[in-house]
Amino acid sequence: MERLAKNCPFCGERISLEKPEPNVTATYHPPFVNSDGKKVYCCKCHSHGPKAVNEEEALDKWNERIPSNNGSCPFCGSNDLGIKTQFNQINMYAKICKNCFAHGPLEDNEADAKQKWEQRTL
Ligand SMILES: [Zn+2]
Ligand SMILES: [Zn+2]
Repeated sequence: MERLAKNCPFCGERISLEKPEPNVTATYHPPFVNSDGKKVYCCKCHSHGPKAVNEEEALDKWNERIPSNNGSCPFCGSNDLGIKTQFNQINMYAKICKNCFAHGPLEDNEADAKQKWEQRTL
């Protein structure tokens, strides 16, 4: 069965679940990353969806959208949020959800990270 991912809630990017051609390397970002769990990843704004146990659950959680309430998490509706300030030892900022472990777009300052998180395209 074909599975479809909704567009990124933060930047509107279409999320492709297709596997890359073997000769595509440098610019390819997989839709699923597996650093500390499976999650759907947006290669345009570098946000990612809720952590899940497998790709199917990651996709389900990514596709679940809850209307924003004072900047709550678009995936789970939680208001238990924080700011992450380091990504791979680089100082970048993103709003994170402490409930589902999604994070918003990566920005080089906290104000932009907050604004991008609150601007939804869903
Ligand atoms: Zn995005
Ligand atoms: Zn959440």
